[in-house]
Amino acid sequence: MSDLYHKVSNSPVGRSVVSALNLPAPVILERQTRSNAPFIEGEVLISAAPNSTAIEAICTVLGASTASLYALDSKALIATADIKSKTKVCSLKVDAIDEKRRFKGLVFDATGITTTEELKTVYEFFHPVIRNVGKCGRIVIVGTQPSSCATPAMAASQKALEGFIRSIAKEVGKKGITAHVIYSVPGAESHIESPLRFCLSPRSAYVSGQTLSVSKAAKTKATDWNTPLSGKVALVTGASRGIGEAIAKTLARDGAHVVCLDVPQAKDALNAVATDIGGSTLPLDITSPDAPQIISEHFKKEFGGMDIVVHNAGITRDKTLGRMPEQFWDLLIDINLSSEERINDALFEDEVFNKNARIVCVSSISGIAGNVGQSNYAASKSGVIGYVESLSKQLKGGITINAVAPGFIETQMTAAIPFMIREAGRRMNSLNQGGQPGDVAEAIAFFANPASQGMNGNILRVCGQSLIGK
Ligand code: NAP
Repeated sequence: MSDLYHKVSNSPVGRSVVSALNLPAPVILERQTRSNAPFIEGEVLISAAPNSTAIEAICTVLGASTASLYALDSKALIATADIKSKTKVCSLKVDAIDEKRRFKGLVFDATGITTTEELKTVYEFFHPVIRNVGKCGRIVIVGTQPSSCATPAMAASQKALEGFIRSIAKEVGKKGITAHVIYSVPGAESHIESPLRFCLSPRSAYVSGQTLSVSKAAKTKATDWNTPLSGKVALVTGASRGIGEAIAKTLARDGAHVVCLDVPQAKDALNAVATDIGGSTLPLDITSPDAPQIISEHFKKEFGGMDIVVHNAGITRDKTLGRMPEQFWDLLIDINLSSEERINDALFEDEVFNKNARIVCVSSISGIAGNVGQSNYAASKSGVIGYVESLSKQLKGGITINAVAPGFIETQMTAAIPFMIREAGRRMNSLNQGGQPGDVAEAIAFFANPASQGMNGNILRVCGQSLIGK
């Protein structure tokens, strides 16, 4: 589905009309074009609040990039000499930054903030340079998980980062700039590499104003960032089109063998996707009583196990509750929620999941905010969130479960929405546009990455910071 307004407003004539009428002008977002593209290029400015603990990990990650690193020289912040000793950076004084200078990224380690007064360091770092972030730039704060803070004062100051970053993301979104907080529990800082790379890269083009939680986890082997899923076997449900097709293609790009599953009626489209990516097919209705067993036996027999499952298949059956036929409720809950549980139960019971397997579910912002005519759909998608949050606490053997919650994504599903509601859905977010199926796929590939071992129980919105929901 193409967004005509986005195309027109980015044409030379359209741009001047949009500007004259003071209409929102969605920028063309920078997206990942090749798997081996550097995760960030250009100038990145870093600093930290005194006594912060993640700066070393941040320097290691950024030190491996091709970006030029600068540390902001300010009395209130960590001494630049400390940062310089960790990686190759140049120090930069505020008055040496002229208004034309453009940074690709601003990264701040706020883990050392323990009192609300010390929050001032966030202001000290971002205030002088926020207007120097270039188009599609990236802003990231690394903080300490508020629930793991030793004192209420520290929890307050760390939680404050969330409100700060959500506001910043809204202020700069019109330029395609995104902003996030990565919360780490103390001692898990070595696991921030994967979320930091994701948040700084074009892979997170349509993700903004989010928090990601990093928990303690076993050490992982060094990752080949170009093909992180090499040797892995994945199942993607609903893979014949839309978001599922994009997920299958993205996981295959990252090196996985993908088993593409969809209803038997979609066999031709499914074959085309699988052929395109060198994967295989499993035409199956996930609600059929024997589906969990068929999937479980297929993976055991063909591959000896499973590394990644993406529960993407889903439907909408919209009607206000009073007018909703019973079968709309039953079928939707069965496809969007119950079948995922049954499939996972079988995969656990038959010990099909390999060590460090990844389960990724697809929720929706409708499940966070609710929507008129979608009581069944929103219930199913909130249910997915509850399921992920609960199961994440029980998993063993390095297995993780996370969910993505897409907002308005340009697919057949959203093409069916009436025009006015569709236009509102597209524009009511900080980036003023709908997302692409590939944006959701990139977030899923990030959770599927072996380096994302510290990511468990996260619900990541892929919605351009939709104004709907929290
Ligand atoms: P889509 O284009 O309708 O694709 C979904 C696929 O799942 C279809 O091929 C569908 O087949 C298949 N499917 C449905 N029931 C199935 C079953 N019982 N067994 C196996 N496959 C089944 O949808 P999409 O827009 O790509 O959405 C993918 C996921 O993202 C869904 O979970 C959706 O709720 C979620 N999501 C989408 C958006 C968005 O803006 N598009 C926003 C938030 C969340 P059929 O042809 O039979 O329907």
